[in-house]
Amino acid sequence: MVDLQSQYNKIQENVDKAVIEVIRSAAFINGPEVKSFQTELEEYLQVKNVIPCANGTDALQIAMMGLGLEQGDEVITADFTFAATVEVIALLKLIPVLVDVEMDTFNLDIDALKKAITPKTKAIVPVHLFGQCANMEAILEVAKEYNLYVIEDTAQAIGADYTFKDGTTKKAGTIGNIGTTSFFPSKNLGCYGDGGAIFTDDDDLAHTIRGMVNHGMYKRYYHEVIGVNSRLDSIQAAILRIKLPYLDSYCEARKKAADYYNTAFVKSTKIITPITSDFTTHVFHQYTLRIIDVDRNSLHEHLNKNGIPNAIYYPVALHNQKAYQDSRYKEDDFTNTNQLVETVISLPMHTEFSEEQQDVIISTILDFVK
Ligand SMILES: *Cc1c(COP(=O)(O)O)cnc(C)c1O
Repeated sequence: MVDLQSQYNKIQENVDKAVIEVIRSAAFINGPEVKSFQTELEEYLQVKNVIPCANGTDALQIAMMGLGLEQGDEVITADFTFAATVEVIALLKLIPVLVDVEMDTFNLDIDALKKAITPKTKAIVPVHLFGQCANMEAILEVAKEYNLYVIEDTAQAIGADYTFKDGTTKKAGTIGNIGTTSFFPSKNLGCYGDGGAIFTDDDDLAHTIRGMVNHGMYKRYYHEVIGVNSRLDSIQAAILRIKLPYLDSYCEARKKAADYYNTAFVKSTKIITPITSDFTTHVFHQYTLRIIDVDRNSLHEHLNKNGIPNAIYYPVALHNQKAYQDSRYKEDDFTNTNQLVETVISLPMHTEFSEEQQDVIISTILDFVK
């Protein structure tokens, strides 16, 4: 699905040097590389505070802890996403409220969001799925009306730009009260292990969170709040410092590969190519098709048989996952997600494609769906 080796080959000299320098310095934890990466990412995102942490799942959990969400508070998020989002809500004994997504963008449906609000609702977690932003302007309006926090899960959309109606733009993850991301190797800005970060313009919230990621300590061995141990290690930070300057060109390469797929697939009436909302750029963490009038699972098997990597993100709606079932959910409220889990298929997407490689994937698919 991704070609991390070819990407590494192009930056190998710098990466190897940076990693060896960290090893020689022996500043493995909270070393200067972490602080430098933090500053460089703040600059790139144009956000006041970046707090690095151990992974994208921790980032979500710590964001919710930092906002002071409490047992029984309801948190609304999308039914069609990776489980990490709902997992941390449940772990913190908050109440996950899953809502349907839009058919064409795969992102939070605003009417479904509004319908799900109760007096207990405290936060909304839009997930910028597959690389494009959810409708943040509408989400911020709802949040303002009901006094809710907005936590952006930007694990799949780092680098995407959101444009407001007045023409101003912001980076994905810096629009709500707080944003989170993951540096998992296959993410658009991936390190060579686990990593994550939290973004916010709110200095007080940033201060709270900086202590929380370090056992709730603001002064060494004085624990003011219950925290966690969640750090980005110095080796990963050093690698991310090498890769961050390439992020825009990586996003560009993904967009180019997506355009190439799109042009080829418009020919088929059985394939619906991904659309991009006009208020956001798309950084194509995933390139995801919807298949109609042809059995998606047969296509999946056909591609597997022919050695074409592909994946079903996601095969089960979260509200139907055993761990997250809840008697309040009604199938009628999830018509889009229920259809998507049956019809989506994601194709290889990375920064190192040749047109020849894409041609093989395209022709194998077009031959099958006709
Ligand atoms: C990858 C991902 C996460 C979790 O990130 P990890 O670093 O693997 O913990 C959370 N949310 C979404 C939408 C993701 O894609």
